[in-house]
Amino acid sequence: MPIAGIYGPDDFGNPIHGRSAPSARRRVNAAERARALPMPSLEWTPAVERATAHLYERVKNVISPVEWPFMAPYIKAINELKQTRNAVILAHNYQTPEIFHCVADIVGDSLQLAIEATKVKSDIIVQCGVHFMAETSKILNPQKTVLIPDSRAGCSLASSITGADVRLLRERFPGVPVVAYVNTSADVKAEVDICCTSSNAVAVVESLNASTVIFLPDQYLAKYVATQTKVKIIAWKGACEVHERFTGDELRAYREADPSVQIIAHPECPPDVLAEADFTGSTAHMINWVRTKHPKRVVMITECSMADNVQAELPDVEMVRPCNLCPHMKRITLPKILDSLIYLREEVTVDPLIADRARRSVERMINLKN
Ligand code: SF4
Repeated sequence: MPIAGIYGPDDFGNPIHGRSAPSARRRVNAAERARALPMPSLEWTPAVERATAHLYERVKNVISPVEWPFMAPYIKAINELKQTRNAVILAHNYQTPEIFHCVADIVGDSLQLAIEATKVKSDIIVQCGVHFMAETSKILNPQKTVLIPDSRAGCSLASSITGADVRLLRERFPGVPVVAYVNTSADVKAEVDICCTSSNAVAVVESLNASTVIFLPDQYLAKYVATQTKVKIIAWKGACEVHERFTGDELRAYREADPSVQIIAHPECPPDVLAEADFTGSTAHMINWVRTKHPKRVVMITECSMADNVQAELPDVEMVRPCNLCPHMKRITLPKILDSLIYLREEVTVDPLIADRARRSVERMINLKN
């Protein structure tokens, strides 16, 4: 069914839009210097080579032997500092292979990371992903220190809507329940009835037993959900700047070049892209699809590091990698993760009153899954 309506900030004249971007990364301040641990050696030595050889085995088909000596000293230092700091690293599927396969303790899509964040025993969580993910970890772990290696790692979906927009939508559509994709700020999560991810969006919408649901902020995920349910969907005009760049023409060109190729796409893509795909699913569903079907050749229509991470795991599947990078995810690097652990920076905080309300929306989703 087509979506029932689509709204954006222009429809409400909400002055809150145009918020300034998070501030630029700052120098080490006095407080950080006071709690800092000594900077480890970052030399490439035979001892580093031996200590990281097992990790290089995991990524050798996606990271060249020329690159590895620059990465391995950081990887060794980060893994040792995690023990010293009693820290755990959560990494999203879009992180680069040296982070995803070599320093992360828990990897997955937003839903998996949100669930795992509730089970973490460590004192410190380092979130290798974007800011809304780190906020979600903080919301679920208010007593823990949550760090993000670069707080400028934003998201075009999260920045497309504010809590004030949600209140205006509720005024426009009284009584209509609101579902927010987890790619939203704590401020937005605090205003909605329940959160969802691309893995469970349809189930969440149907769980509300309502004839109409406001689904925000991704207009393309909303359109996809509308094709999978009889519930009427009112959408918001947000979009992922990575997935909206793919086109149906691009997919047809892959298929014309090789009719046997399998094409799998993320539901944040526009409808003409999904219409050309053999399978549509969240990042976790896409990875499982490749593991299970083991196609000879596959095109993954999503952020390109995920194809690298799957390629590292499944070297005999030929991955065609159309490269749309997420500039926000790519702000997270090994040197910044090391800084995070040495200086305990950049700490993520959420106003406790907002966090309490946002937690209800996230936990309602998690409990639905369990
Ligand atoms: S890939 Fe898209 S949805 Fe994911 S963080 Fe980047 S901009 Fe946001």
